[in-house]
Amino acid sequence: MTMQDPVWAYLEPRDLSLGPVPHVPIEGVPTEGMRHWTYTRDAAGVAWAVLDKQDASTNTLSQEVIEELAQILDKVDERAPKALVIRSAKREGFLAGADIAEFRGVTDEAAIRRRIEAAHGVVDRLAALTIPTIAVMHGYAMGGGLEIALACTQRIAVDGTRFGFPEVQLGLHPGLGGTARFTHLCDPIKAMSFMLTGKSIHDRQAKAMGLVDALVPERHVQAAVDAAVSGALPQPRQGFVDRIKDSAPARRMAARQMRAEAEQQAPSAHYPAPHALIDLWEEHGGDFEAMKRAEIASFARLMLTDTAQNLIRMFFLRQKLKDLSHADAPEAAHVHVIGAGAMGGDIAAWCAWKGLRASLSDVKAEAIGRAVDRAAKLYEKIAHGDRLKIRDALDRLIPDPQGHGIARADIVIEAAPEKIDLKRKLYAEAEPRMKGGAILASNTSSIPLAQLREGLARPERFVGIHFFNPVSRLDLVEVIAHGGLSAEAEGIARAFVGRIGKLPAPARSEPGFIVNRILTPYLAEAMVLMDEGLAPETIDRAATDFGMPMGALELADQVGLDVALDVAEMLKRDLGWPLPDAPAWLREKVEAGDLGRKSGKGIYLWKDGKAVKEKAEAPDPELADRLILPMANTAVAVLREGVSEDAEVIDAAMIFGTGFAPFRGGPLHYAQARGVDDVVAALSRLAERHGARFEPDAGWELLR
Ligand code: NAD
Repeated sequence: MTMQDPVWAYLEPRDLSLGPVPHVPIEGVPTEGMRHWTYTRDAAGVAWAVLDKQDASTNTLSQEVIEELAQILDKVDERAPKALVIRSAKREGFLAGADIAEFRGVTDEAAIRRRIEAAHGVVDRLAALTIPTIAVMHGYAMGGGLEIALACTQRIAVDGTRFGFPEVQLGLHPGLGGTARFTHLCDPIKAMSFMLTGKSIHDRQAKAMGLVDALVPERHVQAAVDAAVSGALPQPRQGFVDRIKDSAPARRMAARQMRAEAEQQAPSAHYPAPHALIDLWEEHGGDFEAMKRAEIASFARLMLTDTAQNLIRMFFLRQKLKDLSHADAPEAAHVHVIGAGAMGGDIAAWCAWKGLRASLSDVKAEAIGRAVDRAAKLYEKIAHGDRLKIRDALDRLIPDPQGHGIARADIVIEAAPEKIDLKRKLYAEAEPRMKGGAILASNTSSIPLAQLREGLARPERFVGIHFFNPVSRLDLVEVIAHGGLSAEAEGIARAFVGRIGKLPAPARSEPGFIVNRILTPYLAEAMVLMDEGLAPETIDRAATDFGMPMGALELADQVGLDVALDVAEMLKRDLGWPLPDAPAWLREKVEAGDLGRKSGKGIYLWKDGKAVKEKAEAPDPELADRLILPMANTAVAVLREGVSEDAEVIDAAMIFGTGFAPFRGGPLHYAQARGVDDVVAALSRLAERHGARFEPDAGWELLR
């Protein structure tokens, strides 16, 4: 049974055990002199420090929260309770990590170091208390929050809690003593791999690795606390074998392997944090105090790297797009998707997974069958063994060949083939059947909405909702406006995107919108380079060396050569753009059905979902500019033309829609960081050498 199950949700106690007088709302009544913490003491003489960060929905470890924790420790010193329990009053969870906003744009390494040293001082005081100290965690315990828990003598978790050290995703590693405490608590290699991946783990995994000492339902928290206070809860202890793994020769050996794996996942030239963490452990893992001290210096150094600052920026870009989905709009409960192909099937599956009712129609029943089959496989992958969640999602995904769902849906999304007459015909059939207030959306990649909306009775309720392939993996969804779209319908569309856990990027209906327009010159240039006789592996390596998640040619195969060719031709035609002509071999491949990954053969051969590649030669340094700068140049055009008026939205769209090298901060940010003058000069040189397609856009003036 899960906590979400209705019967159990009803039976579960509504209140968290927060120490004495648990039914008095603690919210807004912090202990005198403190804004965020409450200190109380129960009849058994146990102190409860309860965190409820003011004016925030989530507990984060801001400077103020840490300073107040020091005051809590003063009280413990004064009043000598029998034990100290640390808990969160927020229903959702214990403590997320540090307050990332405080890391943004920092430039003074010494100042960062001083701040971290002060925070370490507080956590060290907590760790040095001679009474039992017990962290009670529920919901989630992340980053710095988990480090506070690690400084306690025991850790109790409520069923369903998730744990994680996401710091590496921000270009950092744990920085509050966690690297030393965690590797000395349990199997150091498991602890390291947990910190190196940045992935979260669930309650049972945490219990198995010794990160938590007891796992209980909420109603047993008090009993578990009593057991910890009385010494009845087994103490965590590092086993003999674990201690051997901490010896210098063992660390050296393990570190070598970790480095090799880290290099594969995240090359040190672009992502220094995992490598810094491995160095830290290899050098100091045998000495707890030395490791803590070295952690401070390493953390402060990392914080100033461009990588960390750009990844922190990316965190806020994600937040910015999320905020765009907070429209004042009624929540959609039912979506109907017309066309159960590659996109439509996956869109419906994703919506059902996220809790919406999703009906799916197609002219071909087999297409619906295949879509449901794909959905079941996807759920199997992402459900982490939760059978009920899979069953419920499959129940919500409704095969609907007749399209009965159209009359009930709050949103109807058309994902039929890219043919204007077919789409218009489908709208003419669907629109009169839709309920009042519902909106009609198209997933079109290339047809101008102004043409699609012709003939609609309510064009103001017609919008573009453009997903990316694969739907389950790419978080971005472009929400496309046209002159006649009402603000209300646009709000509904954005809120819907947020409701299914995706990130909306608003854009105007101009050819290619934001992402395809910026991506296409990159794909096209890679093909020109192939025509110049370079091996695809070399071309792709130039892109991955720059930091792209995959090369342009591999990406073209992944997207589908037919789709890439269609988009390129449309852009060339509709924008009169000096894009290079599609090579003859590309057309031949498409005609022969060699479409890339989906057909098993394209530019590369594909085996088990992977491109088969020869070893790549080191690319000429000019190659990266030839591939990347056309993207930056086009991003500038997109901004100048107002397809999106916000440079941050454009950067975010490229990062979340294509995986554009996240540590570079997006194409516009990259160009600005490199220097607009330098980029314009490089483009002009390329234009002289290779043609007008590299001419710097007039919009660079806006960025100077
Ligand atoms: P697809 O060919 O895989 O699927 C289209 C489906 O529509 C097929 O199952 C087909 O049987 C069905 N269909 C045909 N006529 C129909 C009708 N009259 N009524 C109902 N269903 C009908 O195509 P796709 O790749 O899923 O693309 C669909 C739309 O999504 C297009 O507008 C495309 O531009 C857009 N898009 C595609 C991608 C991509 O990467 N494939 C990405 C973003 C957007």
